[in-house]
Amino acid sequence: MSLLPFDNLPAHRPRRFVPTTVDFGDWGQLSPLFDELEKRVPACKSVSELERWLLDSSELSAALDEESSKRYIAMTCHTDNPDAEKAYLHFVENIDPQVKPRQFKLAQAYVAHPLRSQMPKKRYEVFDRDTKVHVELFRPENVPLETEEAKLSQQYQKLSGSLTVQFRGEEKTLVQMGRFLEEPDRPLRQEAWELVASRRLLEREKFEETFDQLVKVRGQIAKNAGFDNYRDYAFRKLGRFDYTPEDCVRFHEAVEKEFMPAVRELQSERRQKLGVDKLRPWDLSVDPLNRQPLRPFEQVEQMVSRTQNIFGRLDRDLAQGFQRMQDLKLLDLANRKGKAPGGYQSTLAEARVPFIFMNAVGLQRDVETILHEAGHAFHALATREEDLYAYRGAPIEFCEVASMSMELLGNKFLEEFYATPEANRARRTHLEGILNIFPWIATVDAFQHWIYTHPGHTRAERSTAWLELMDRFGGDVDWSGHEAARAHLWHRQLHIFIHAFYYIEYGIAQLGALQVWANSKRDQAGALRSYKQALELGGSRPLPELFSAAGCRFDFSPQTIGPLVALVREELGRLNGA
Ligand SMILES: [Zn+2]
Repeated sequence: MSLLPFDNLPAHRPRRFVPTTVDFGDWGQLSPLFDELEKRVPACKSVSELERWLLDSSELSAALDEESSKRYIAMTCHTDNPDAEKAYLHFVENIDPQVKPRQFKLAQAYVAHPLRSQMPKKRYEVFDRDTKVHVELFRPENVPLETEEAKLSQQYQKLSGSLTVQFRGEEKTLVQMGRFLEEPDRPLRQEAWELVASRRLLEREKFEETFDQLVKVRGQIAKNAGFDNYRDYAFRKLGRFDYTPEDCVRFHEAVEKEFMPAVRELQSERRQKLGVDKLRPWDLSVDPLNRQPLRPFEQVEQMVSRTQNIFGRLDRDLAQGFQRMQDLKLLDLANRKGKAPGGYQSTLAEARVPFIFMNAVGLQRDVETILHEAGHAFHALATREEDLYAYRGAPIEFCEVASMSMELLGNKFLEEFYATPEANRARRTHLEGILNIFPWIATVDAFQHWIYTHPGHTRAERSTAWLELMDRFGGDVDWSGHEAARAHLWHRQLHIFIHAFYYIEYGIAQLGALQVWANSKRDQAGALRSYKQALELGGSRPLPELFSAAGCRFDFSPQTIGPLVALVREELGRLNGA
């Protein structure tokens, strides 16, 4: 594929095992490589042979990963090119499904290997526990259930994505309607919000039915794997070795105790600024002073050069990394026709370099996104010398520390984009967003704990459980007249349907990012030194060690959370006065 400017980037290490001529679109050329790896495992007679075998498997995994990434990148950068789409779909439909069971067999062979217990402990313990749990959880009878689960998830996505409303004579998707919640005109906001809420409520039986079936299938999957409930199974499946369901309950409690007073205070300020008696659900996204959106740049080149300046003021290594990405053309940031929506960071796993995709149009959100994705990119660059593919990626709870820290650290130098009053407004909005998201994360997480530890619950009981959480974490918003919408608000949270339990990761990571930021206020160079050291570890150490290398505590108690909330409030107070 010559669609990509970086298509000729060399592998970071020359290949030793995978032939350079192999065609990754042809399973016939790939399966002999898996055959050979399978044959070689029992022949490994020493720890070093087994390690060599792991590195060769690693090389194959990285090459396949890079191929898949390149095809995905080409497709999203050129949605108008049917060949790019075909090439990606070919990989997803014909190569991936063949690769997965073969990789699983290799994992099984590793777990069963007699020399496994003699592998250097510190080096392999994380890899070992991940591989072991992956193999142990597998049940052939769960394969059709997982297909069923995927189909139900797809049903949810299809239903959600298909909903539209007629608004002022035009058909709009619910996503498009989101924009009207930022309009200064309050009756217009209310009209837009009510239209969307009632459209969703029309489908409530379908959402409830899909979810009932998902809960049932998940319960069976857990049971087949020998677990009492799906929550305990999901914790294993998600590789949560370093925290327990009880830790998550402590997280919910700390959010209630530490974040809720700050959130209520923000809500009260918002109410006063808007000049309304009560905050209604449609009053939460609008700028409370009815100002025009911030305009940080006109051209994407300006966004890149100003972001480069921010990294220059933060840290020399990070600045060099970002410059290198520009030199190698690893950024595709401007919105243009023929590009998929959204933004992401992807890694070319063999060249061991990151790529960032965005649709920048000149909003503050774009500045937040480039800082965030650059944090992920720095993570990828920091692990380049790690030869074990599995360790070049970290658990999501730490990946997001890398990215969320960059947002907070980069915000210090927003004057690269704005005059000070506008920079302060952007900082304020960012910090308020952080305070406001924690209660929602706690709500979504606590709800799922309840769901999967109350098998056989009725829909009415489920609603009651949700409403209790809304009382705990919803703050002072007046929902009167919209009780049904409030009781079913969870229908719009995609994760509850399609990525069960995956959500608190963002809260855990934000706690880490806030600590990195707190450290940087005392000692910027020191905080960045620790940040970079932690990134270099990739996924080679357990979460508490990754956090501690970054200068943070992996802890969800009020002792850790309280001072962070206090710091954010203090900063908000300072920005108010500025
Ligand atoms: Zn991210």
